[in-house]
Amino acid sequence: MCPVELDCTLTRFSRRSFLRYSAAASVVASIPILTEAHLAHAQRRRVAKHIPADAVRIDANENPLGPCTGACASISSLIPEGGRYDFDLTEKLVMAFSDIEGLKPEYVMPYAGSSEPLHYTVLAFTSRDKPYVTADPGYEAGMYAAKASGAKVLQVPLTKDYAHDVKAMVAADPNAGVLYICNPNNPTGTITSREDIAYAVANKPAGSMLLIDEAYIHFSDATPSLDLVKADKDVIVLRTFSKLYGMAGVRCGLAIGRPDLLAKLQVYGMNSLPIMAVAAATTSIQDKDLILQRKKINTDIRHETFEWLTANNYKFTPSQSNCFMLDTGRPGKEVLAAMQKKNVYVGRVWPAWPTYIRVTVGTRSDMEKFRIAYKEVISSSTAGLEPLPLPERLRNTPHTHLS
Ligand code: PLP
Repeated sequence: MCPVELDCTLTRFSRRSFLRYSAAASVVASIPILTEAHLAHAQRRRVAKHIPADAVRIDANENPLGPCTGACASISSLIPEGGRYDFDLTEKLVMAFSDIEGLKPEYVMPYAGSSEPLHYTVLAFTSRDKPYVTADPGYEAGMYAAKASGAKVLQVPLTKDYAHDVKAMVAADPNAGVLYICNPNNPTGTITSREDIAYAVANKPAGSMLLIDEAYIHFSDATPSLDLVKADKDVIVLRTFSKLYGMAGVRCGLAIGRPDLLAKLQVYGMNSLPIMAVAAATTSIQDKDLILQRKKINTDIRHETFEWLTANNYKFTPSQSNCFMLDTGRPGKEVLAAMQKKNVYVGRVWPAWPTYIRVTVGTRSDMEKFRIAYKEVISSSTAGLEPLPLPERLRNTPHTHLS
């Protein structure tokens, strides 16, 4: 059996469908999947080729806790099996996740992280005449995928409460291909309500896809949207093990949606998964206390940071996640550069909010160092703080701002 057929067995995706779609897929095969890792790395490289080992890294929304103890044990125990492909382990993850969430297994498709299905959903459902609609500021990865599919990008400003402006997104273009809602939002960490998401499902343009990215859902009190998938709506939900589960470098994520929708993603890429990643993911979701424990750690450190920011009259977004936007009151790029010189690597600036920088909630020690460096930087003169240029491939994404 060829590798494609092996994957087809796993995914119920037929060889004929694969051949039908492969011509379209090959057109975009050379377009890189740009994700948080690349964007954070590009920002780091503006100052130093290599980030120092003792640097405070609060620029990529990583989880400093790493994989939980059980996940580490699963990874270690599988190292000797690393010479094998093992589809059973992938199947176990699918079965465990569907069981916990009350989903049919064929509605769950695992990937090496959620960046792939994000990219593939945008490729599958947008085109030159089917725009991609997203929030501003919002997570940029889908915009780069839209560039690959030739789709117009419509950026809709967040509401004054920092939620997605769902009514404006729904009305943005009657031919929209994908409406992307990141809940909680990256970079603001803010929530979009269940009512608003239900409105989007009921009112979005006919034939469009609602892509709901729940990368950070476990840190927050936001209502998950898996029930919309169970109700067979035109909705794809993304989950990742990179955030609360601390597995960004291990790589595992899920696309959850109707099987006919998931089949449209598979033409852009299908591969066997790293066995240690799927085993660690399975162990992680079976640890019943993990979400609450890690949510509390993140919430406590975030609240401490917010208390300090408030006491010092600094303005920030009311995040429920592991990142927030902080208004520096001056060009954010200068502040980033100055912070990096103090060995504190803070996240990037979004063009719509040029005075804001994104801050990831790190360990308590990371945030203490952040506070010291930030106060010094903000108290000093801006003279000599030069923003450095973006690499060419991250510039010039075609987009339209809606006001
Ligand atoms: N979605 C959002 C909103 C993210 O912030 C990220 C990464 O930071 C991803 C998806 C992709 O994560 P990964 O590919 O590591 O699963």
